[in-house]
Amino acid sequence: MANIVSGKNHNEVLLQLAKGLLGMDAGFLFSTGRGAMTALLAAVKLQNSDNDRNEVIVPAYTCYSVASSVINAGLKIRLCDIDPRTLSYDEQQLRQIDFSRVAAIISANLYGLPNDLPMLEKLSKSEGFLLIDDAAQSLNAKIDGRYLGSFGDAGILSLDKGKNVTSIQGGLAVTNHPGLAELLSQNVERLDPLSFKRQAIEFIKVVIYYFFLNPYAYKLPANISFSGLGETRFETDVEVSKYPAFLSSLATAQFNRIDQITQSRTQRGFYYDEALQSNQSITKIDRLVQTEPAYLRYPLLVHDANQRSELLDEYREYGISASYPKSLNCVDEIAGHLVGERACPAAEVIARQIVTLPTHAYVRETDMNQIIEILAGL
Ligand SMILES: *Cc1c(COP(=O)(O)O)cnc(C)c1O
Repeated sequence: MANIVSGKNHNEVLLQLAKGLLGMDAGFLFSTGRGAMTALLAAVKLQNSDNDRNEVIVPAYTCYSVASSVINAGLKIRLCDIDPRTLSYDEQQLRQIDFSRVAAIISANLYGLPNDLPMLEKLSKSEGFLLIDDAAQSLNAKIDGRYLGSFGDAGILSLDKGKNVTSIQGGLAVTNHPGLAELLSQNVERLDPLSFKRQAIEFIKVVIYYFFLNPYAYKLPANISFSGLGETRFETDVEVSKYPAFLSSLATAQFNRIDQITQSRTQRGFYYDEALQSNQSITKIDRLVQTEPAYLRYPLLVHDANQRSELLDEYREYGISASYPKSLNCVDEIAGHLVGERACPAAEVIARQIVTLPTHAYVRETDMNQIIEILAGL
């Protein structure tokens, strides 16, 4: 707490931890993950200023702020549908894309479940565009022992509420690509700090979250908005500003015990996974082979939108929630920035039927058993 109050700058320590974990040469802190993504994409745009590549492939079901970031960086969005069984890209549709104007592709890795990143890495290399590995929800998840956020050319981490490591807000861009690193470092040097007023507001938020919202005072702590995974409302403008230094010691403390934090979540994820094996009324999301998920939430599909709204109406206090309410092809504000195929039926199904279960440390075995029982009654 003393460090938070004194505002002592631990940014460098935090960056070293993140770069060390992911094995990256360069890392940059921003006030949000979407700020980091926007700055990174602005660098991608500059890298491609001498050619026609101004499109970014985005999965049709992911956090809205990924789309906001592409738009704010002045690039076009080329949507690709997802495989409803895994939430990874629909590989068949992906391979049919005309890549001639594609500058980058972005992974999603939602709920701590790794996408097929080795496939994306190979494809991006052979077609001459960059892979941005969005590990905002999957810090410490792995494929074949390799950390998410380290695939391709650059990675994104978020330190927002409800993420694997949180300081209420914050984001990182990490990269091994010398050109991107140089451009990002120039960008960061020019950044304004958050206004004094905003820093004061953030500080008060931290105090409230950590000292007054005692999770045990609630039936289940998921009541508090820690389970939010980014906005469920589309925000057009992305502010790119500096990470408030007083937040870094919060994030550093969690980075230092990231394996413990991850283990606590994955234990709960596997518990649900095992128990839901015999439930015929829900559809599980498959883990890809060789992956070690971080299970930030445990995702599954229910039968239809009606069943879901009844479930959420009745049992929201258990921390059961939906996720992004629309696939990106159905978000009006994005329409003017799209190129190519707009039909993404699988992503629309996911938006209607997805339910996510809480995996944070305050969820007890009895809570999970109750949730499992509720789902058995569907
Ligand atoms: C949260 C999130 C982001 C953006 O991070 P913020 O810190 O909330 O701006 C980007 N991508 C995904 C998949 C996310 O979940």
